[in-house]
Amino acid sequence: MTAAVKKAVVTGHPVAHSRSPLIHGYWLKKFGVDGEYGCLDVAPEDADRFFRDFSESGLTGANVTVPHKEIAAAACGWLDEAAKVMGAVNTIWLDDDGRLCGANTDWTGFLGNLDQRASGWDDDAGTAIVLGAGGAARAIVFALLSRKFKAVHIVNRTPGKASRIAEEFGPRTFAHSWDNLGTLLEEADLLVNTTSLGMTSKPSLEIDLSSLPESALVTDAVYVPLQTGLLKQADQRGNRTVDGLGMLLHQAVPGFERWFGVRPEVDDDLRALIVRDLGGAT
Ligand code: NAP
Repeated sequence: MTAAVKKAVVTGHPVAHSRSPLIHGYWLKKFGVDGEYGCLDVAPEDADRFFRDFSESGLTGANVTVPHKEIAAAACGWLDEAAKVMGAVNTIWLDDDGRLCGANTDWTGFLGNLDQRASGWDDDAGTAIVLGAGGAARAIVFALLSRKFKAVHIVNRTPGKASRIAEEFGPRTFAHSWDNLGTLLEEADLLVNTTSLGMTSKPSLEIDLSSLPESALVTDAVYVPLQTGLLKQADQRGNRTVDGLGMLLHQAVPGFERWFGVRPEVDDDLRALIVRDLGGAT
């Protein structure tokens, strides 16, 4: 008797734009794994039932994207620590008892990206400025605290959302409105954009970097375009920069390992494949 081919999907609504099939398809081929990875659009009204009945789907696991990350977390019988804190999952699987389990790997994606492309970036782990207070910001604040940053300042258009994160994450996190940004930047060792500003088809991120130390690292969660306005501006004034594509690539690693039994690497060929798919945007 032959074992059934393991099959995973990325599920969201809409989901056709997702690069996850390309990423996992690359690894399936590279490691010669007899598995499949596809896209599954689940309408919001069907999402709760879909995740609660996941064991009947025939799937080994899934990536979960917008807008289902919270509803999938609520359907899980087990969550990892990050998913519990964030109330959202991006990776799910069934354990041996058929129980739905969920993890949030955006934070390890963020760390994996900087570890790979900006070695030594957290040696001093001083002060970080996080622009935005949505899902990506929560994952990144969690990541920065795990690396012992002394102060993480969250700057958001809606200050109440930044305050909620700061209250939840404790004494090393501080909430601010955009008005404080110039002063905050003076102390920054790391500046991260997690707002959707600067993304293709969204308004640009208008920011004055003149008070930012030249030694600060600047990174962006946005990866379409790859070289955002923020990264261009930082690069021109001599700051080290890292784009957001690696975060996407690294967040995919634990799911692939979980479903297909091989821990993959984020290598140059994978990056080049996705850059080509993004239209060579640099
Ligand atoms: P989200 O939960 O919707 O949060 C969006 C954030 O952007 C909020 O803080 C929002 O501020 C802010 N924002 C939106 N429009 C704004 C405007 N006109 N002016 C000022 N602030 C504005 O989204 P998310 O899931 O955190 O994702 C944010 C970005 O990160 C997206 O571009 C996404 O593609 C990217 N991302 C990348 C990765 C990766 O792997 N590289 C992973 C996750 C997300 P308010 O709170 O005031 O609305």
